[in-house]
Amino acid sequence: MLRRDIIEAAGKKQNILFPIFTNGTYMNERYFDLFDKCRNLVPIMSIEGSKEITDARRGKGIYDKLISNMDEFKKRGLIFGASVTVTTENYKEVCSDEFLSELSARGCKAVIFVEYVPVTEESEDLAPDDAQREYLQEQLTRLRAERPEMVYISFPGDEKSSGGCVAAGRGFFHINSHGGAEPCPFSPYSDINVRSSSLREAMHSPLFTALRSGDILLDDHEGGCVLYEKRDLVEALIAQHSAR
Ligand code: SF4
Repeated sequence: MLRRDIIEAAGKKQNILFPIFTNGTYMNERYFDLFDKCRNLVPIMSIEGSKEITDARRGKGIYDKLISNMDEFKKRGLIFGASVTVTTENYKEVCSDEFLSELSARGCKAVIFVEYVPVTEESEDLAPDDAQREYLQEQLTRLRAERPEMVYISFPGDEKSSGGCVAAGRGFFHINSHGGAEPCPFSPYSDINVRSSSLREAMHSPLFTALRSGDILLDDHEGGCVLYEKRDLVEALIAQHSAR
């Protein structure tokens, strides 16, 4: 949302749907007008559950700002979604009928459950364990049957049904704010920058090619994210290629 120029450029590609992930704090009258005009831009706002949990993670007043954004979207008849980080602390609440009824009543049409993937070992206690991830998947199956008014996606949980990790250009890749092409936001390593290469070249960077050509992306692993689990290997690949 800090780069309105990019969002305006996306708005002009009316045959492509762009989900725009945002914490919602930069939503203002001008943005509401832009989303109103460009219906291919779909805001996906981060929310963590109740007001208490959302404000505890994101700051005081954030929940109320999100609710007022939702009310404005609904008033204008605009589609929007919610993105929820699922942790050991909120995994039950965010699957509850109470939370989802509230989102649905406010006009939300999609809920994206992003399982917490730690970046450092100190925060590993927030990452859902196997039983909790299984609970999430069971709830998703229930919600899809009982509450079809919204679309539910879980990440990385749903990757099992797409045959494993879809990072490194197998399904998508991520470009960071400096232009570095990374396998996935959860695997923030890069050996090529799209400021000096094309997207096609980035797709075939040594790191991406090595990740796709081995069995790494399809390997069995513990926890939700294979490339977090195998981060030592990704770091070794980066070191190996930059040493050449
Ligand atoms: S790196 Fe992790 S989160 Fe990203 S696509 Fe692969 S398994 Fe999913």
